[in-house]
Amino acid sequence: MVRPELNIAIAGGGLMGRLLAWRLSGKGHAITLFESGSFDMPLGACHAAAGMIAPLSELVHCPLPVYELGLQSLRIWPQWVKELQLQGGSPVDYRQSGSILVAHPQDRTELLQFQQELIARLGSDSQRHFQLLEGSELENLEPNLERFDQGLYLASEADIDNRKLLPALLIEIKRHKAQLREHTPVECLPGEILHGGGSERFDYVIDARGLGARDAVKGLRGVRGEVMVVETPEIHFQRPIRLLHPRYQLYAVPRAHNQIVIGATEIESDDLSPISLRSSMELSSALYSVHPAFAEARVIETRVNCRPATMDNLPVLKKEPGLIRVNGLYRHGYLLAPALVQQIETQLYQQTLQVT
Ligand SMILES: Cc1cc2nc3c(=O)[nH]c(=O)nc-3n(C[C@H](O)[C@H](O)[C@H](O)COP(=O)(O)OP(=O)(O)OC[C@H]3O[C@@H](n4cnc5c(N)ncnc54)[C@H](O)[C@@H]3O)c2cc1C
Repeated sequence: MVRPELNIAIAGGGLMGRLLAWRLSGKGHAITLFESGSFDMPLGACHAAAGMIAPLSELVHCPLPVYELGLQSLRIWPQWVKELQLQGGSPVDYRQSGSILVAHPQDRTELLQFQQELIARLGSDSQRHFQLLEGSELENLEPNLERFDQGLYLASEADIDNRKLLPALLIEIKRHKAQLREHTPVECLPGEILHGGGSERFDYVIDARGLGARDAVKGLRGVRGEVMVVETPEIHFQRPIRLLHPRYQLYAVPRAHNQIVIGATEIESDDLSPISLRSSMELSSALYSVHPAFAEARVIETRVNCRPATMDNLPVLKKEPGLIRVNGLYRHGYLLAPALVQQIETQLYQQTLQVT
């Protein structure tokens, strides 16, 4: 049976919307992508994110399905990045060099507790997922972590430079001749898009509006995240570093040109106003405690956005005839999106088979 081409509207040009538009236009479907803001400067959480793809680091704080979907995504990302690069665009900087978790000597129980929780959640299989590094082992992997004598190495984890991925996806979506409609806030109905200019019919509508879908996804809430980007030629991390601390959460994700993304706060709020003094002090002092050379780092950017989350922090994938809603990716968009996109592709395919 031949799979017919569908006329599909995707609402939301953030992470999910772009990935869906890229994959589905690449399969020959006619895609129209609607975005309330501009495609060059997205309003969504995707733009603020650190881009970590870290199922094990997240496992301790999240429900098991997030971990399982995350493992699927970890398998998908390398192939997708390869496909994006095949077109000769600029590199999107995907790296699978693992992550390292550390704690200051006075907080060592945090590291121990994290390790125990991994063991409890992964069972007998757990030992192959992490390695406790001592002294020179840690120094060999990350010489700039000289203040720490132990670290937990999660070798399978990855990260992607979202600031490179998002424009790369847009280039591919355009190459596939999808229609791009920016500055067009929409509402989503089965087979129908409503906007200021009236309504348009489609075979399928996919609602990927993140927090913009609050009218349609019950219990959707915003979780504010604040991030700083610093630049220093003195510190060279090879992979994301997480500092376990009784008060703050801190990660440091190295990027090209001596830049490091530092994050992130997690505040139950929809507030999109600039970073607070308190948050910037907490992030800065936690960072300084990792290495004193950070004192001279330059703060080159701060980012604030709200993660779209459901009440149980699980993603939502809801389907009815003519309409799919995908939302609630919370702090796991990059971790979950490829696996969810594949589920949506399968659902569309099954639906199409039913109607042919
Ligand atoms: C500070 C921070 C750090 C993060 N770090 C990570 C990380 O390291 N790893 C990870 O996996 N995840 C991370 N995340 C989470 C990740 O960014 C989100 O889960 C992801 O962006 C959600 O994708 P989305 O496409 O559903 O929503 P969004 O990325 O928010 O995109 C939604 C899009 O829909 C558009 N829109 C809204 N309303 C309308 C409308 N009515 N009509 C048309 N368009 C509309 C918006 O403008 C936006 O472009 C982080 C988030 C934040 C805030």
